[in-house]
Amino acid sequence: MFDCIIIGGGPCGVSSAIYLKRAGYNVAVIEKSFIGGQVAYSSELENYAGFIDKDAFIFCQNLTKQLQSLQIPIFYEEVISLDKKDKKIIVKTNKAEHIALTCILSIGAESRKLGLEKEKAYIGKGVCYCAVCDGNFYRNKDVVIVGGGNSALEDAIYLSNICNKVYIVHRRDVFTGEKMLVNRVNELTIENNGNIEILFNSTLQDICGNDKVEKVKVNQNGSNIELAVSGVFIAIGRVPKTEFLQGFLDLDKNYILVNNKFETSKEGIYAGGDCIPKQMRQVVTAVSDGAIISKNISDFLQ
Ligand code: NAP
Repeated sequence: MFDCIIIGGGPCGVSSAIYLKRAGYNVAVIEKSFIGGQVAYSSELENYAGFIDKDAFIFCQNLTKQLQSLQIPIFYEEVISLDKKDKKIIVKTNKAEHIALTCILSIGAESRKLGLEKEKAYIGKGVCYCAVCDGNFYRNKDVVIVGGGNSALEDAIYLSNICNKVYIVHRRDVFTGEKMLVNRVNELTIENNGNIEILFNSTLQDICGNDKVEKVKVNQNGSNIELAVSGVFIAIGRVPKTEFLQGFLDLDKNYILVNNKFETSKEGIYAGGDCIPKQMRQVVTAVSDGAIISKNISDFLQ
């Protein structure tokens, strides 16, 4: 029986685990892949006060080390269902069943899909959702990135170093990401002797090829064009994977609804980080959620 089980080992989950453990509670983290959450899919971590290394991999390694140094157990398991009986929370995973008095859902979000007919069929054959993970497979090749937010801009900067040519296909006529990233992308465009070509007012219509991606069809300002590319990097935002909570907790468009104490619709179950509705999805806001949740859980348990 744990005082608190934290589902998801991203910045929110790790932050709450550290606070709770240091306050004397018996906690465990359940993580289905690796500690770090979305940061693990980034190359650099910026905008985080006091962290000047920038290396996202080091940041994730440090999160793991911090959990280990506090002797917080990490179960590498996937949560299948959550239940509550007699004030106890039962967390069922693909490997075991864990019981706790409280629970934190810091499950982050997964890549949004474009929804094109052939998108799924080409996953692993040219369609990717993580430039840092898969970029190396497209060394010296031409690729296209879809999206215009921070992720798409970061991916473009990262891939411009590896690939021969990088197209950005964005449906608006302006990027929505941070100004600094927009400026960096602009410095790397073909007009500035770089290798990025920006296609505004454009949408990806089709992905074509035999075994692997060979080209994409794009509609730009109403005209159809084709781009010969080997890789399609889709960076159009993220949505929480909350199917296992449907009918158990109150959700809105897959996001877990919480009050100003980060309490969900079930007493003792809290949620924070990217899986709740919020204005700014950043490492710093996730870490902050985790710290505040730990204080609220501490009050609740007492
Ligand atoms: P995002 O900020 O939500 O941007 C998504 C982009 O994809 C937007 O340009 C959006 O266009 C476009 N898009 C959405 N659905 C689309 C569709 N069906 N077809 C074509 N385009 C579509 O997502 P993100 O860039 O992945 O970032 C997610 C969160 O993580 C954000 O809060 C972001 O700030 C944060 N993040 C921060 C950093 C950083 O600080 N360095 C890095 C990565 C991520 P519209 O604008 O037209 O909807």
